[in-house]
Amino acid sequence: MPQPVPRLEIRALTRSFGGRPVVNNVSLTIAPGQVTCLLGPSGCGKSTTLRMIAGVETPDSGEILIDGVPVFGAGRTLPPEARGVGLMFQDFALFPHLTVARNVAFGLQGDRDSRMKRVSELLEKVNLSGYGDKHPHQLSGGEQQRVALARALAPRPRLMLMDEPFSGLDNRLRDGIRDTTLEVLKEEGAAVLLVTHEPDEALRMADEIALMRGGHIVQRGSPYNVYNSPVDKAAAAFFSDIN
Ligand code: ADP
Ligand code: MG
Repeated sequence: MPQPVPRLEIRALTRSFGGRPVVNNVSLTIAPGQVTCLLGPSGCGKSTTLRMIAGVETPDSGEILIDGVPVFGAGRTLPPEARGVGLMFQDFALFPHLTVARNVAFGLQGDRDSRMKRVSELLEKVNLSGYGDKHPHQLSGGEQQRVALARALAPRPRLMLMDEPFSGLDNRLRDGIRDTTLEVLKEEGAAVLLVTHEPDEALRMADEIALMRGGHIVQRGSPYNVYNSPVDKAAAAFFSDIN
């Protein structure tokens, strides 16, 4: 059986700052529809990896392919807007002067009816039907976060890149929003690279975990495997903090 083309494939990606490699020979594949969590302690190179995939940071070497097509490498560098990726960060800044509906519609093309249809479909999925005419400041942090998710998903990105998207949220809200987010991502069939330093988040959300340390991926596997068969003592210690 031929293997399906991965949604994302990165090969030997490397990036140094001031002569120090912060992402060192990282390779990773994500299948269509799969959620992969890049998990590791602060400073291990997660965001730099994600930023290179997004196209806002340039690798020193390596290759990045989306749906089998090089977006970086082989003499080619596609700009961020041509990569078909959706982005979500901790600081998910909505446009404050635009309504919720206009925020979600922002990246959409096509006629008004089809844009409005897509907006109401997404607001329903994130449980914010009826919020379309409100402005961001009238919403709670959790509601704003769900609007940001709808906005990022609106143009049907091939790949969602999420960098610690829940870390600014109140603890009490976080689990609920993680579950809603995962449900919507799965419904939309998005492939996802989710960066987090929190093991419980990765265990809750990932189909596959890539454990990163010191610029390297040290272990890849299902949440069950990574949790139950840590590759070394440091990996075991990293997971043991979970309460
Ligand atoms: P993580 O997201 O895992 O916390 P980062 O990828 O943000 O880690 O950073 C990895 C390392 O690279 C850190 O030591 C950080 O200080 C360094 N770094 C990141 N971006 C830059 C930059 N633009 N210039 C210099 N050093 C950087
Ligand atoms: Mg980071």
